[in-house]
This record gives sequence, structure tokens and C-alpha cells, in this order.
Amino acid sequence: MINSLRCGTGFDVHRFEEGRKLVLGGVEIAWEKGLAGHSDADVLTHAIMDALLGGSGLGDIGQLFPDNDPQYRGISSILLLSHVYKLLTTHNYRIINIDTTVMAQAPKVMPYSDKMRAVLSAALGDLEADRIGIKATTTEKCGFIGRGEAMAVQAAALLYKG
Ligand code: MG
Repeated sequence: MINSLRCGTGFDVHRFEEGRKLVLGGVEIAWEKGLAGHSDADVLTHAIMDALLGGSGLGDIGQLFPDNDPQYRGISSILLLSHVYKLLTTHNYRIINIDTTVMAQAPKVMPYSDKMRAVLSAALGDLEADRIGIKATTTEKCGFIGRGEAMAVQAAALLYKG
């Protein structure tokens, strides 16, 4: 069992931009700004994908979904997460749990956490919601996150290779 466990971490930052939708964990959040990016800029889903890819040794999202490739322009990151999940399955990995911390001065994201967990679960082969942790913190107004310039997410994943 011990020899079959793999842990991975992921980290991502996207800056806020006027005129964009704010999508987090596949859920649209009503807010005055969205996040800039080539895809839908779903920073939470990006960090989760990198944690899964890191733990399985399958690379990172930049390698799988290059941000200069027109086919990924504006794409739903949840679709990309489904692709990562299939890749893990092909390589005999199962997800034990995922944990994340969303760092943002605003908006409050925890009111959306159950909805985000449901969407993420569906993209991950109906992984039980209690295996997906979403937590949120501000940075006490410090740094670029605290000034409301960007949002960051840290993610960890524990995988079992069968
Ligand atoms: Mg990203």
C-alpha cells in the first residue's frame, strides 16, 4: 500500500481583469472582475490538475495544454480536468483525496464550495465530495493577492497506483 501512494502539489496564479467571467472550480461566481488567461482561467481547476499530474509523474498542464494552442482558447478547464482524470485512469491511478486553498482578498468563495465540489466530483469520475477539500484565505491585504490584483490556489493530491 505505502509503495503505491503518490502525492502531488499544484500552484497557480491568475490576475484579475475587467470584462472577464470569474470561473472557479467550474462554477461562475458573480463578481466585478474575472481572471485573465488563455482558457477560462479557472485557477482552482488548474492547480488541481497540476497536483494530479505531479503526483502521477505525467507532466504539467503547460505540457498537456499549451497556452499558445488555439484549440484551448476560452476552453472550460473542467473539460481539461476530465481529460487529466482519464489519463490518470489509463495509467492505473486512483484519487484518494484532493485538498486546496484558494487565496484571494475578495470575493468570498466559500459560499460556492459545495457547488464547486459537485462540479469537480463529476469531472473526476464521481469522486466523493468529502475527498475534495476547498478552503479559502485572504492574505490580510498583503502583497499582490491582498491588493486584489490576482487570485492564487495551492492544491495537493494523494493518489493510489493500482
Ligand atoms: Mg493557470
